Amino acid sequence: MRKSVVNKFKRVFEEERRQILYNDRILRPDFNVNDDDRPDEVDQAATDAEQAMRMRLRNRELLYIKKIDQALTRIEEGIFGECNSCGEDIELRRLEARPTATLCVSCKEEEERAEVLTASGRRHKSLGDTLHSVHA
Ligand SMILES: [Zn+2]
Repeated sequence: MRKSVVNKFKRVFEEERRQILYNDRILRPDFNVNDDDRPDEVDQAATDAEQAMRMRLRNRELLYIKKIDQALTRIEEGIFGECNSCGEDIELRRLEARPTATLCVSCKEEEERAEVLTASGRRHKSLGDTLHSVHA
């Protein structure tokens, strides 16, 4: 992958990282609700739900930051844009849509197929013994 293209992605990652961390600073102050306005249980429940939602959002952001960090590390190591599985270049169009992608389209599709197979395998687990005896 060309150096100028890699640098473009690097700027995108650093900007996204900065924004997430900046948002975090804005959200924090009201993360803990004031003890004064904590009237009844209904409001408390709503507050809990809101906090739970924020935590989920927050976890997603942390996960994304982790992916950004991994992508930045790959840039440092000079392997950014290479498929983790087959080592081929990941399609640029795919990277532009999903900069933290670590698999090329065909490897990703293969992985998703495998996941579907695993999921259906789990669904039919109760049939496992029957299937085994049929094939035996
Ligand atoms: Zn691949």
